[in-house]
Amino acid sequence: MITKKAGRPAVKAVAKPVAKAGAKALQKKPIDLKSQDKSPAKPAGKPAPAAAPAPAAAAPRGPAAPAAKPSPAPRPAPSPAPTKFKRQTNGAVKVGVVGCAGRMGQMLLKMLINAPGMVVVGGTERRGSIALGQDIGALAGADPLGISVGDDPSLLFDSSDVVVDFTNPTATVSHAQMAARTGCALVIGTTGFDSDQLNSLYRASQRAPIVLAANMSLGINLLQQVVEEISRILDTDWDIEIVEMHHRGKIDAPSGTALALGEAAARGRGQQLRRISRRSRDGQVGPRVKGEIGFAALRGGDVVGDHTVIFAADGERVEITHRAASREIFARGAVKSVLWAAGKKPGLYSMRDVLGFSVQGPQSSATPPASS
Ligand code: NAD
Repeated sequence: MITKKAGRPAVKAVAKPVAKAGAKALQKKPIDLKSQDKSPAKPAGKPAPAAAPAPAAAAPRGPAAPAAKPSPAPRPAPSPAPTKFKRQTNGAVKVGVVGCAGRMGQMLLKMLINAPGMVVVGGTERRGSIALGQDIGALAGADPLGISVGDDPSLLFDSSDVVVDFTNPTATVSHAQMAARTGCALVIGTTGFDSDQLNSLYRASQRAPIVLAANMSLGINLLQQVVEEISRILDTDWDIEIVEMHHRGKIDAPSGTALALGEAAARGRGQQLRRISRRSRDGQVGPRVKGEIGFAALRGGDVVGDHTVIFAADGERVEITHRAASREIFARGAVKSVLWAAGKKPGLYSMRDVLGFSVQGPQSSATPPASS
């Protein structure tokens, strides 16, 4: 559940006045994405802005708050409270990363920091993480950014245009509720959701744009298209099996990508995956049932992600494989999604929407996804 703002434990060393003003502004009126000015009302007319950016002067999303006070004669600037979340963005898309110390989180940070048109405003980790308090630039192996890893995602959602989430299903559902509260776009790479969790994401997507993609690589999304097409062409004399292998640290199986490939195959056959999937085989399982789509999950080493879809008939076999050599391909897709999602209407979108080869439009106009 979302902790109410008033009830949230205080976070030390955060530029609270700015964050609170932004949150208040958002609470006053219903979420209206059109009113979310992506280039916040910066004090354009302010005299002498030439000095280095003053962290407390940048406005959050929504109406500028503290800048309205009549400014008296120049006086020494009060020393600003150290900021945890950066706010001076010069019109760039403000991006937050939850789970920023994870395998994907670190890779993403590194890419986002160098990406044009966006600025990293902060990152969070779970309570108790050893990454808390570390500089997020240093965490990504880049120059320090002067922003430390926090543990308050609510504050991050108040300060960002888009938040990227590669964490775990429970955390992601809670983050989606924060997205719904603030209208902040959310890019979800997390996998392993159950149907209740998927429904929660779907509900949240009615109030905020959410990109949900079990695999953000271009290759896998192309593979999904191809698998759907092949499955449409071949009849059920062709058995479909999906094999995946991942590193030993992966906690869900089959992978979200394998399930997405299964969905694509089932769609091609005009079926629903949940009715025809065979998630595992062990013991005296009997002969294969005609028309089912089988899965096998292997785990070991540091394999980033291999997926093979096998179409097997009597006397011949078609196998299509995708191998991810580095997490960079997922991070690249996530960066693309960030730019795409900023300012979009609420809805549940897929990577195919982001990459521009969706034939169905936003998923929100249909039903919640069956798996991710
Ligand atoms: P990881 O375990 O290395 O990273 C997850 C991070 O989330 C950890 O640092 C953890 O401390 C943090 N975390 C957990 N709860 C949190 C919370 N409440 N708030 C903030 N941070 C929290 O895992 P990973 O390999 O980076 O993968 C993360 C997820 O992304 C998995 O579900 C994985 O399957 C998925 N994934 C998706 C893609 C894709 O293309 N969509 C690619 C790779 C991995």
